[in-house]
Amino acid sequence: MSEVEWGRLKAAELKLLARDNAVAIVPVASIEQHGPHLPTMVDAVLVHEIARRAARRASCKTVVCPVVWSGLAEHHMGFGGTLSLNYPEFFAIIRGICRSLVRQGFGRILLLNGHGGNVAALTVAVNDIAPEFETPIGTATYWLLAAEAFGKILERQNNVRHACEAETSMMLALHPDLVDMSLATDAVGPTGPEVASVIPGGGVHRWQSFVARTSHGVIGDPRTASAEKGEKLLNAAAEAVSGLISTSQFWSLPA
Ligand SMILES: [Zn+2]
Repeated sequence: MSEVEWGRLKAAELKLLARDNAVAIVPVASIEQHGPHLPTMVDAVLVHEIARRAARRASCKTVVCPVVWSGLAEHHMGFGGTLSLNYPEFFAIIRGICRSLVRQGFGRILLLNGHGGNVAALTVAVNDIAPEFETPIGTATYWLLAAEAFGKILERQNNVRHACEAETSMMLALHPDLVDMSLATDAVGPTGPEVASVIPGGGVHRWQSFVARTSHGVIGDPRTASAEKGEKLLNAAAEAVSGLISTSQFWSLPA
């Protein structure tokens, strides 16, 4: 199996990958509280692993950049354990990485997102950076891309929420030593009102802190999490991401 991780490759090998028009995946995450039972690095661990698995499955050459662990997580600050950027700082990091990739000849870049708080920001960043560098740069959030498959695997939720059935399952598959299920028994949320409970149907946005939405930091139900389910979710996400990067029309769409 050939190496897909940027940080494990040598400069000359990366030059060849750029020459061969390899897709560069930039996994983007966040460090924040994940309820009483999970560590703060959940988003970084999961999106990095999904990117690696996707790269190995893809039908085109692919390289996975080191994970960007810093994201937008102001809404988690109230629980502690959270390291957050503001949008201008986040944008500067994403732009700097894309600029470096483009300068080295990478012409297809996917910002693969693993954190809810980054979804809107990455869309805005792509709309700003892609025309500036005249390069196909896309973004995808792994659980939205794999929504259909995730819905079939999960029992208590339709998709990923937070420190929930899905995230806990995937962490049980990858780092069971870092999961304390004895602390998950009462951690089921939301426990506070959310926009969707007041105005159903979507299309409306208001900023809310997690403290206002959940008393313990969890949204979703981690009690039915299992390593087996986690492995299925990781593979379903990897399959969806590899399908996306292997779709040549996605990259050749006129800009
Ligand atoms: Zn997150």
